[in-house]
Amino acid sequence: MKRITIAALGVSGLAFVLAGWAAAQGDQGTIDRIVDIGKHDSHLMKDLGGLCEIGSRLTGSPRLRKAQEWAAGKFRSYGLSNVHLEQWGEWPMGWEREPGTYAKMVRPFDIDMVFTSPDWTNGTNGPLRGAAVADPKTKADFEKVRGKLKDAWVVTEGIPRRPRGGGEPPPVGDEQAQVQKMVEEAGIAGRVYGARGELVITFGNYREKTFDKHPKLRQVILARSDMDRIKRNLDWGKEVVLECNLDYRWWKGPVPQYNVVAEIPGSEKPDEVVIVSGHLDSWDGPGSQGALDNGTGSCTALEAARILVKAHACPKRTIRFILWSGEEEGLLGSHAYVEAHKAEMDKISAVLVDDGGTDYQGGYVGPEVMRPMMEAAFGPSVKAFPEFPQVYKVVSSIRRQESGSDHASFWKYNVPGFFTIETGRSDYNFIHHTQHDRIEYAIPEYLVQSATNHAIVAYNLACADTLVPRQVPATTPAR
Ligand SMILES: [Zn+2]
Repeated sequence: MKRITIAALGVSGLAFVLAGWAAAQGDQGTIDRIVDIGKHDSHLMKDLGGLCEIGSRLTGSPRLRKAQEWAAGKFRSYGLSNVHLEQWGEWPMGWEREPGTYAKMVRPFDIDMVFTSPDWTNGTNGPLRGAAVADPKTKADFEKVRGKLKDAWVVTEGIPRRPRGGGEPPPVGDEQAQVQKMVEEAGIAGRVYGARGELVITFGNYREKTFDKHPKLRQVILARSDMDRIKRNLDWGKEVVLECNLDYRWWKGPVPQYNVVAEIPGSEKPDEVVIVSGHLDSWDGPGSQGALDNGTGSCTALEAARILVKAHACPKRTIRFILWSGEEEGLLGSHAYVEAHKAEMDKISAVLVDDGGTDYQGGYVGPEVMRPMMEAAFGPSVKAFPEFPQVYKVVSSIRRQESGSDHASFWKYNVPGFFTIETGRSDYNFIHHTQHDRIEYAIPEYLVQSATNHAIVAYNLACADTLVPRQVPATTPAR
């Protein structure tokens, strides 16, 4: 998911009275079993632990592929049907960050530094030690440090710009741009940047990169306190030496890209579908396990599948579980899925995405026309988990909700795609894309609710008389 705060939706200000539900659409005995299994026999934390043991899962990396095979194996072991990896694309290269990377100061004293590098950048071939040299801004400054630049780590203000398209250089004045180029052609070890604070955020641009053709500049982004320490010592005139071991591996493709798909086939209308999903890919900065973005969403989908099969749920429509990839690079897996399946889009009742971290599922955001059916679908879950209230927040268009995850890919064909409202005490910004995206920040009781709620909502929608009603397209503002 992208960095948009969910609190901005102002959900807490809403107080929908959750009484007088339309009758639940599914069978009550099944719902009771779903609740019982979800609450009292949860496999969620065990599965999340298994996934986090594999580690972070950058799109196109062997660890993601391993996690996809792991997830497919889990779906099979839980009794799902039609389990497969569905290819959505192919990249000309692969890249992976190996576990042994580090960055440290070795002089004037020996300290480990907290850092990341953008994905799809160059690594070192083993530990690379060099003096820290302040980045010259003018040609006159450049002349002063010219003799020190060979093998130096150049201490640079700001962080590398996140290139969206072709990776164009940051906008600087003519002279500064020339000096930047001169520095980077002077045989430096690389550039070190300082994050704004102690959170180091990982990002990257895969576009236009191949095994043979990619930028050679090494980039290290340090936590603010480590950067400040380097600058302080340089200001004092001390010799500062840094050592980085950036074990980043490129290889030649083609590298196929996949989503993981599994189903519970519908008993009456198997060609009509409710989709339950999360994204299995993650960023992969040092420390991160991709646990909350979006290991939790992947595991709530997996656990919802397990609960439904174990409860002998017999939905009228097919419930399809999809673990996307390429989400972090711009919803690539879901976008390609939608295009590949566009003939089926009018048979998809709804798409549920849980991609807001470890909080509980606190409801849905959408237009009035979808409200009665969605409220009826999650009603039994509110009854089963009275400590976790839910709301349906009415907005003028389905598009007026969080748009930074895979549900949004479906809006193009007017399919109701919902990003579950995430409610609870988790500090998402502390975790999201940072070194803290780790299983110790997962909140088990919230995830138990999330998986069970997913199962109840999907089951009810799959048993309802109709698909979730579409919003009349004419009222949907162009975007
Ligand atoms: Zn995400």
